Amino acid sequence: MLRLHSTRPIIRQTSIIAAIAVLLSFVITGALYLTTLGLDDRFWDAMTFAIIVPWGISIPLGWYMVNQHSRLIGMTRKLKQAQHELKAVNEKLQHKANFDGLTGLANREHFIKQLGERRVLAENNVLMIVDADHFKNINDCYGHPVGDKALVLLAGVFKRSLRKQDLVGRIGGEEFGILLPDTVEAEGEIIGEMLRHEIENILFEPQADKVHRMTVSIGLTGMSPNDERAISMRNADTALFEAKRRGRNQCVLYSSGMRSKPRPFFEASQSTDPFALRA
Ligand code: GH3
Ligand code: MG
Ligand code: MG
Repeated sequence: MLRLHSTRPIIRQTSIIAAIAVLLSFVITGALYLTTLGLDDRFWDAMTFAIIVPWGISIPLGWYMVNQHSRLIGMTRKLKQAQHELKAVNEKLQHKANFDGLTGLANREHFIKQLGERRVLAENNVLMIVDADHFKNINDCYGHPVGDKALVLLAGVFKRSLRKQDLVGRIGGEEFGILLPDTVEAEGEIIGEMLRHEIENILFEPQADKVHRMTVSIGLTGMSPNDERAISMRNADTALFEAKRRGRNQCVLYSSGMRSKPRPFFEASQSTDPFALRA
């Protein structure tokens, strides 16, 4: 079988065919000479013509075939290269559509979509919403780019501290969503506390010789496969609101008696759920 990436097989096959043709022409001519000794010159002219013409044609034809084959190889290579480039561009676009450019975490849409898919994989999961405390002060005091650096530091804590199977997303400006699969609420509280503690101990220097203590408030709730993701998100948000109300820099587990966060008028007047996946 011909391999498209090399001209060697076609040259080899052409040589074999040519060698067989030479051998056959000698055999046929020899046999005719021996068996038809009485034939006149016209017969021998016709025979010579019949042998030489195919030979004359086969050389340029072989050359033409090798050339065409090389062109085909070149075109196939270019096509493969274009396919590779297209695949890389598609992957980049897909990544841009799903991940936050600043922190590298899943964006809100991707997080909520993944939440819907992953919550059914384990009986017990924990959902957290982490919100940076008084984050506006960082921007106001040191500027927006410094605020961006603070967000990257927060994301770094999540990436370093959480397990590979945990899902983390930036679901708002200074707000992060975390799904801990196969985790019960008590474990979730310990992990939340660990994250809070890690963040509190970040050495964040917005200016030379100036250390700013960053803190976060965390709301968390248990989430089983049958729980609606919008309801779980709302419960975690209610627990987060409670953590803010109790003075911030703490981790609060949702319970049904908790006062939920009042929604701004424009949101309350809309029928769409703020935690539903936007189209
Ligand atoms: P609270 O403790 O109640 O959460 O106070 P807060 O200041 O963190 O909350 P607030 O909602 O008042 O402000 C959030 C701030 O986060 C306001 C906004 O400028 C800032 N922010 C949102 N997204 C970004 C971002 O991408 N980069 C920077 N630098 N700041 C951001
Ligand atoms: Mg905040
Ligand atoms: Mg916020």
